[in-house]
Formats: sequence, C-alpha cells, structure tokens
Amino acid sequence: MKLRQIAVWLSMALLALPLEMAFPGEAQTSPSATVLPTELVGNLEKLRDAALTSDYAWRQVSHLTENIGPRLSGSPQAQAAVEYVGGELGRLGLEVKPEKVLVPHWVRGEERAELVSYPGQVGGTTQKIVLTALGNSAGTPESGLTAEVVVVDGLDAMRALGRERIAGRAVLFNVKFDSRMAAAGRASAAYGDAVVYRRTGPKEAAKLGAVACLVRSVGNADYRLPHTGYSAPAGIPAAAVASEDADLLADLTRQGRVVIHLVLTPETLPQQTSYNVIADLPGSEHPEQIVIVSGHLDSWDLGTGAIDDAAGVAVAMETAALCKQLGLRPRRTLRVIAWMDEENGESGNQTYFAEHKDALADHVAAIESDSGAGHPLGFTGSFSEQAASALAPVSKVLAPTGASLMVNTGDAEADVDPMIEAGVPVFGLMQDARTYFNYHHTAADTLDKIDPRDLAENAAAIVVLAYALADMPQPIPHSPLPK
Ligand SMILES: [Zn+2]
Repeated sequence: MKLRQIAVWLSMALLALPLEMAFPGEAQTSPSATVLPTELVGNLEKLRDAALTSDYAWRQVSHLTENIGPRLSGSPQAQAAVEYVGGELGRLGLEVKPEKVLVPHWVRGEERAELVSYPGQVGGTTQKIVLTALGNSAGTPESGLTAEVVVVDGLDAMRALGRERIAGRAVLFNVKFDSRMAAAGRASAAYGDAVVYRRTGPKEAAKLGAVACLVRSVGNADYRLPHTGYSAPAGIPAAAVASEDADLLADLTRQGRVVIHLVLTPETLPQQTSYNVIADLPGSEHPEQIVIVSGHLDSWDLGTGAIDDAAGVAVAMETAALCKQLGLRPRRTLRVIAWMDEENGESGNQTYFAEHKDALADHVAAIESDSGAGHPLGFTGSFSEQAASALAPVSKVLAPTGASLMVNTGDAEADVDPMIEAGVPVFGLMQDARTYFNYHHTAADTLDKIDPRDLAENAAAIVVLAYALADMPQPIPHSPLPK
C-alpha cells in the first residue's frame, strides 16, 4: 500500500499524471477529481463516527447466530431469520417487501466413514475418515457403501484414467487450497482455484460411473475440520474430507489398494417458498433510483453462519439504522436486501434479477458484503473510471478507518454479480480475509470469530459508501456493458 501512496504523491507532484497510467488496473481514484457538497461530506463523517461507536450490527449478528442459529435454505431457521430481519427493518420505519424465492431444501443426515482395507492395516481395526456431506449430495444406502478409493489431482487426471478405472469406485479430488496465497492476502483467489472441484467434481465423477465422490476441503485450517459447500446435484453421495484425511488417503493409495466404507444419509426434500427480505428507505428526490446494500441471510448448517454471512446482513441493516438514528434521508432510495439461498444454488439473486430486469437501469449501484468480518481495506467491484473518480472523496472520509482503497476487480460478491451484465456498478467490501477460509463453511463459523471493532469498521465503510451513492448530486454512471 505504501507504494500506492507514494504513487499518489508523485502523480500529484507531476501535475496530476493520471494514476491509471502509473498503475494500470490498480488505482483509479485521483483525490482531487471530484468535490462533494460540504453538507454531504459532513453527513458521511457523522455516519462513519456513529458506526464506529454503535453495537447495532453486533447485536444483529448475535441474534442471527446464537438465537436463530444455522440458516440453510429451506430450514425453519432460515424462515425465522426472514421474519426477524423483516420485522427489525420494519421497526426502523423502512418499507418492507419480502419477495418470494423458490429454494432447495436439502437436509443433512448421518455422516461417517472409515477405511476398511489399506496397506499395513492392523488386524481387527479400521481408520476413521473425517468428512461432511456436500450440499445436494445423494445418500448412500442406510448401511452405507463400500468402494475402492481412487485419488486424482484434477478433472483431467480423472478423465485420463477413464471409465474403466473410475466406475464403481469412490473418487477423491485431492487439490490443495493454497494457504500461502491466502496468507499473502489473496484468499479469494486461492478459494477460486480450489472450489471448482467441490462444485463440479461429483457431477463429473458420476459421468464416469463413480459411486461416490470425495473432495479435499476447500480451506486452510489444520484442525481436521471438513468444509461443506455447494455441489451441483450429481446423483451420487458427495462429501468433503478434512485436509489431513485427504493426505492420508493420498499416501495410502500410493502404497496399495484402499477401501472405504461410507455412510451418508442426507435427503433432498421438495423445494420450499422462501424470501429475499427487501426493505426500502425511500429517496427524498428520486425514489425510483435504487442503491442496494446487502448481505446473504442463509448460511451453511454446520456452524451458525457468523462470518458467512450474518455479518454482511448486519452491516447492511445498520446502514438503515444509522440513517434513522441521525435523521438522514438520502435523495435516492436505499434498499436493504438480505438475500436468500446464496449458498445452495443462488435462487435468491436469480429471482431478483429476473423480476427487476426492467428496473435495473434505475439501479444506481449495488453493494454486498460477503467475505467475512475482518478489518476493511476499502472496496472492490466492477465500476467505470468515472465512477471511481466520483467516489474519491468517499474514500477520503474512510481513510481514518483504513478503508480507503477502491479497486476495480471486474467482479463482485455472488448476489450482486449478475447485475454487472446490466451495467450496474457493483461493490464488495475488501477485507482482511487471511483467516476467512479457516472457518468458512465449517462448524467453527461462529460468533466468536468476529471482532466487534472490525465489525464496526465494516459497518462504517458500508454506510459511508451506501449513503454517498444515494445522496450524491449526480448518480455515478453505469458501466459500459460487457461485450
Ligand atoms: Zn457467503
């Protein structure tokens, strides 16, 4: 970051040489590019300071995680969360309009596995394998299934073995999450590289006749924790094994034949009606123009979904709470959304996109926080250079909290990402996510993983950006449509 500050300095000294020329694709903001009305800057500073001293978001995360609990799509807790968030936003005085979403209803069952045959096995013993079913996994027979394990390091390696070596076997995709990449601050890139096997591995393995699919957990904690997550329905049992157990399977299969006994009894029940919770603080001048501030309300079922993503919902809710607390009403409509089913199929954002397609021209911007609750560094997203330049004074307001970066990565969090194709500028919180994937989708995603100070900083960043977008005299321009 120091380098960038020096660049800012230098570029100013060299008579405002545009930053894009110095760091293409990295920094787009030029501090002197835009001036916002003094009153708006004052309000942004008040909102920032109020967020830093508020415990509103913390209380919301606490209730969602400790009182309501895990909120998997289709579960009674997901429904309770819909009612709670709708009720709370209504109490704040927002216009609450829950919108129906048809969601999958997959329920975890029993899950256990042991190796029943392997090189060097001590007579009369087996070896436990720590695993957890992936979302949409099919069940084994109640007594389980027994199959030889084949370990591969990718889709090509599996296809190279062909049906002859895969049919009737349990395939393990043993692709490591790159923890050094995560430790260096590129956690989402590390996740993106590894998660493809969880999403599509089971389906591809089933095509070659595999009877079960195992995937090395996508995450970097070394506490023998399995990480669940979405997998495309494949019609075969599919589970994530703890990274330690993936190593064990890889080592033993190198020595000889390894046979696993696997019991998974999840069920896929009929789809259910659920809701995106949508609540508007109508704009004073342009109520038809919308700024979305959001997080996703559903979570995986192993933990209580604190960092993924009660935190995101809570800071979005706090945006409305602080506007009410300070008596502020922006020119445009602030729309708080608690998305449903981000985790197990994304039916929530798909439904919104389909139903609001004609109104997207009036969506000025969409923000989602869904990378945890670590210290915020600023924003990533997909937006034009003119938008970045118009937001430079906003970054300045956030500089004292450390959240001053505005980096166009060309993508965004899952629920707002589809809007990129309609030209809507989208933003996500850029956070310190170095440990996010230690807990992501595990039983350890619980309230204690959130530092209240970090959460307050996140709320400050979100409320300042959202309010600025909703109250700037001119809306930021839409992005050029992708080709
Ligand atoms: Zn999430």
